Amino acid sequence: MTTTKTTSTVKQEKKAIKMAVFSTKNWVVDSFNVVNDRYKFELSYFESRMYKKTVPLAEGFDAVCVFVNDVLDAEVIEGLHKAGVKLIALRCAGFNNVDIEKAKELGMGVVRVPAYSPYAVAEHTLGLILSLNRKYHKAHSRVRDGNFALDGLLGFDLHGKTIGLIGTGKIGQIFSQLISGFGCRVIAYDKFPNKELKEKGMEYVDLQELYKQSDIISLHCPLTHETFHMINEYAIAAMKDGVMIVNTSRGPLVDTNAVIEGLKKGKVGYLGLDVYEEEEELFFEDLSETVIQDDQFVRLQTFPNVLITAHQAFFTKEAVLNISETTFSNVKEYLGKGTSENQVLPVVKK
Ligand code: NAD
Repeated sequence: MTTTKTTSTVKQEKKAIKMAVFSTKNWVVDSFNVVNDRYKFELSYFESRMYKKTVPLAEGFDAVCVFVNDVLDAEVIEGLHKAGVKLIALRCAGFNNVDIEKAKELGMGVVRVPAYSPYAVAEHTLGLILSLNRKYHKAHSRVRDGNFALDGLLGFDLHGKTIGLIGTGKIGQIFSQLISGFGCRVIAYDKFPNKELKEKGMEYVDLQELYKQSDIISLHCPLTHETFHMINEYAIAAMKDGVMIVNTSRGPLVDTNAVIEGLKKGKVGYLGLDVYEEEEELFFEDLSETVIQDDQFVRLQTFPNVLITAHQAFFTKEAVLNISETTFSNVKEYLGKGTSENQVLPVVKK
C-alpha cells in the first residue's frame, strides 16, 4: 500500500502535541481540522493503515490515532514505543485490534471513543433488517429499470417476530427500543446481564434458547477470545430454519464458512453484514477496478439474500463529530495527566 502525507502539519506553539493520524480518509481530515482549530495539535495525516510496515512513520510523534482496521499487535506496539510514541488514540469504540497488555507493559496509553453514536449503529442495524426483509435495494434497481413486477420481493411482517439480541450494551439497548416499536418481542443474551434492564423487563435467556426462539439474531457484543466465531456451524444448527442474522458489531463474530454453508442449505434465510472477518483488505477503499481475491467474500455476494455494507453503521454527521471531539480531548487529557476517563486497560484476570 502506498503511504502518502496528504496534509502538511499545522505548526503552532513549540510544545504542540504531535499526532500522526493513520488510515486517513477525507472525512477524517475535514472533521479533525475543524476540531483542531481549538486544540492546535501538530497533525500529520497518513493514508496508510498502521501495521508493522508503517511503524517507522510514527517516529517522533507523541500519539498515533488509529481506526478499526489498523493492526496494533505486540510487534507494532514495541516498534511504536521505540519510536517514542506515548499514546495510541483509537477513534472508534472497539479495541480488539490493540494488544492492550503489551501497551500497558511498555507504559503506553490506549484511549478510545466509547460511545460516539450508538443511535447510528442501532439505526443502521434496523435499516439492514428492513432492507433484507423488504428488499428495497432490489426494488430500487428494478423500478429504475422499468421492471414493476413484485415476484421475488415478498417480505414478512416484523410485528410479532422474536428478536434475539446478543449484547445489551449501549447499541444493543437502543436497537432493542427501536425494534420493539415494530411490535417485536426481544429476548437477549449478555455475558453480564444488565440488572436495571432486567428490572425494566428485558428477557434474558441463555444462548441456546436465544438461537432456538429467534427469528432475527442481531449481534452487539465485542470481539473477544470468547466471542470469536460464536456464530459457527453449531450455533447455526441450533437456530430456526430461515433465520435472519445481522452483524453490525465485528466481523470475526461470524464464521464466514459456516454461514455460507448455512445459506447454501437454506438454514440461514437472510444475512446482513456491516462488518466482515477479513474486511481489513477490502473495506474503506474503492476497489471497483480491482479483482477481489477474497473468494469467500465474493461467494457471499452471490447470494440473493445477503446484504453487505462496508462498515458504515457508525457513519453519521453526529457520530463523526463526536469521534473527533472525543479523540482530541482524550489525547490532550492523557498526555497532560497520564490518564484519561476513556483509557483502555487490560482486563484483570480472576
Ligand atoms: P458496549 O460495551 O456498550 O456493550 C457490549 C455488550 O456486550 C455489553 O453489555 C457486554 O456485557 C456484552 N458482552 C461482553 N462480552 C460478551 C459475550 N461474551 N457474550 C455476550 N455479550 C457480551 O458496546 P456497544 O457500544 O454497544 O458496541 C457493541 C459493539 O458494536 C462494539 O463492541 C463494536 O465492536 C461494535 N461497533 C460497530 C460499529 C460499526 O460501525 N459497525 C460502530 C461502533 C461499535
